[in-house]
Amino acid sequence: MDLGLKGRTLVVTGGSSGIGLATVRAALTEGANVALCARGAERLERVANELASEFGADKLLAQAFSVLDPQANTAFAAQVAERFGGCDALITNAGQGRVSTYADTSDADWRDELELKFFSQLHPIRAFEAQLRASGTGSITAVNSLLAYQPEAHMVCTSAARAGVQSLLKSLAGELAPAIRVNSILVGLIDSQQWQRRFEARADQSQSREEWFGDLARRKAIPLGRLGNPDEAARALVFLASPAASYITGARLEISGGVSRFV
Ligand code: NDP
Repeated sequence: MDLGLKGRTLVVTGGSSGIGLATVRAALTEGANVALCARGAERLERVANELASEFGADKLLAQAFSVLDPQANTAFAAQVAERFGGCDALITNAGQGRVSTYADTSDADWRDELELKFFSQLHPIRAFEAQLRASGTGSITAVNSLLAYQPEAHMVCTSAARAGVQSLLKSLAGELAPAIRVNSILVGLIDSQQWQRRFEARADQSQSREEWFGDLARRKAIPLGRLGNPDEAARALVFLASPAASYITGARLEISGGVSRFV
C-alpha cells in the first residue's frame, strides 16, 4: 500500500530515541521529509548525522529544544516552513512516564507531570496549526499510553494526565476538523530507552537483558508474550499520520501486544 507520504513533511517531537527515532526512520523510508527535535543536542546531532548519510541531508532538519518552551516551538515551525514549505503531519511523541504513587507524589510533581503531558501536545500543536491547516492533508498523531484508560497505582499522576490528554485530543479532533485529523496510539510496553534505563537499574544485576525483559512480559501478562519494539509503534504512527488514513480522526489505536483489559 502506498501511504502517500513521498515529498510530504512530517515533524516528530522526541525524535532522537526509541519510538520517535523509529518513526523518523519509517517516514524517511516512505520518502517524506522529516523535522525532529529533542532536548539533548549531542545525541540529536549524532542521530541526525547517521540519518543524513543514509537518507540524504536535504530530507532532514534537526533542532535541539524542549517542547515545553513555546517560543522554541514557534521558531522550529518557522524553520520547517522555510526549509520544507510547511508541515503536513505532526507526531507528538516527546516525553516520558513518571513512576510514583499518590502517597509519594508532591504537588510540585503533579504540576510538572500535568505540564509535561498537556503542553508537550499544546505547544507543538499551536506552533504548527497554521501549516497543518494549509497542508490539505494535515494530521496530528499523539503518542499516548494505555494508562489513559487503565490507570496504575504506581504511576498515579502519569495515568491521570494521560486520561486528560485523550480528552483533549478528542476535543481537538472535532474543533480542527475537517482541516486536520487528530488521532493517537496507546502504547503498552515498548522496548525503548526508558525501559533500557530501568533494565540497567535492575535489582539483580546478574539477570541478562533477555531474562529481565522475559520476566517483565510474564509479570505484565502480555498476551503476545513480549514487549513491543519501537518499529511496531512507528508503523502505526506513520500510517495514522499519512493520507492513507484519510477517513480516520478522533481515533485511538492500541499498540500493546493485547495487554489492555478494557473493552
Ligand atoms: P525514549 O526515552 O526512548 O525517547 C524519548 C524521546 O523524547 C527522546 O528523543 C527524548 O530526547 C525526547 N524528549 C523527552 N522529553 C522531551 C522534551 N521535553 N522536549 C523534547 N524532546 C523530549 O522513550 P520512548 O520512545 O519510550 O517514549 C516515547 C513516548 O512514548 C513518550 O511520550 C513516552 O511517555 C511514551 N510511552 C512509552 C512507553 C514505552 O513502553 N516505551 C509506554 C507508554 C508511553 P531528550 O531526552 O534528549 O529530550
